This record gives sequence, structure tokens and C-alpha cells, in this order.
Amino acid sequence: MTTKSQVFKCKACGAIVAVITGGKGELTCCDQKMAEVTPDKAKKLIYGMSRPGSP
Ligand SMILES: [Zn+2]
Repeated sequence: MTTKSQVFKCKACGAIVAVITGGKGELTCCDQKMAEVTPDKAKKLIYGMSRPGSP
């Protein structure tokens, strides 16, 4: 059994949502579809938030 997590980001407000267990449908935020980001990119986004000063 494999666990595939997906990470989505809202382009409008910058919210990041991680989906641990798969689900159907699309995530929406700010009345628009959230964009899926790769786990690697998500890591950078998360570290970027916890480390002020990094680009
Ligand atoms: Zn949003």
C-alpha cells in the first residue's frame, strides 16, 4: 500500500494544503481551483515561510 500525498497551493492567498489520503474532486480556495505543486516545491514553499529573509 502506497501513500501518495498531494500538495495544492492557492495562487490568490498563498494557502498550502496537503492531501494525505486521496480524495475525489478538486480543491478550491478563494473561489478558484488550487494548483497542484510537486512535493519538492512544496517543501521549499514551507521552508520559505518558516525562514523569513529567504527569497
Ligand atoms: Zn485562497
